[in-house]
Amino acid sequence: MKRRFAAALAAALALVALPALAEPVTVVATFTILGDMVRQIGGDEVAVTTLVGPDGDAHVYEPTPADARALGAAKLVVVNGLGMEGWIDRLVKASGYKGPVTVTSAGITPIAGEEEHGGHDPHAWQSVANAKLYADNILKGLIAVDPAKADALRANHAAYRAKLDAVEAEIKAALAPIPRKDRKIVTSHDAFGYYGKAYGVTFLAPVGLSTDAEASAGDIARMIRQIKKEKIKAVFVETIADPRLLEQITRETGARIGGRVYSDALSAAGGPASTYIGMMRHNLAQFTKALAPAS
Ligand SMILES: [Zn+2]
Repeated sequence: MKRRFAAALAAALALVALPALAEPVTVVATFTILGDMVRQIGGDEVAVTTLVGPDGDAHVYEPTPADARALGAAKLVVVNGLGMEGWIDRLVKASGYKGPVTVTSAGITPIAGEEEHGGHDPHAWQSVANAKLYADNILKGLIAVDPAKADALRANHAAYRAKLDAVEAEIKAALAPIPRKDRKIVTSHDAFGYYGKAYGVTFLAPVGLSTDAEASAGDIARMIRQIKKEKIKAVFVETIADPRLLEQITRETGARIGGRVYSDALSAAGGPASTYIGMMRHNLAQFTKALAPAS
């Protein structure tokens, strides 16, 4: 009797132990946009920690001891690359993390940027065509870590790809009625180069590609002349940037401040841009409202 009980207990324990095999993959993503994409593709198969939180600035981030611990417990680290996270190599080293690193921007065609980013503009996710490659790279990275989850991951990825196709079509359709020559927007840092190239919008920014650069008085004077000359109607403040510079520019040019747009970070949950797709829709609405011909 005792022996039978022991056998039954062993069988029960084996059953209890089984779900441990299907534990979620622990993933660390450097900033919110990537964290969201990993969640969309990973679904219940992943547990994601994002280092730079909502409205945070990944250009100038200072990693914490908790970040190093998160990496120490991770099975996969997901980064943007293109010089976006200048602090990540030091953090990986400090944490002792030896696992794979998925570079989401791998395979995109970079556009030129500043020296400090290795000569590339890092904001590649601002083109939805690039975001699809990000999704593909994340899928590959997750499957390599846990091949048993491949079917579920592929299904999530296909559904997410379809949503990216839909938002890409929405952006093109919404901008189409606005004449190309009127599609000019000023933002506080130069984060929309890929957006501009993909959708035919000219973006001007008094500060460079990174938020740690400061615009000189000469840069600002040049920007003010350009806004007046090109009759630019609206300037946009990004949620991660200091608004004072753009406020000065609007005072001196009469251009108005458009809504807040999201470039490098999502809003907190419940905010207007808590997912990548939500961000692209929110920004599109802000841009088209400002650019639409007066009726
Ligand atoms: Zn940026």
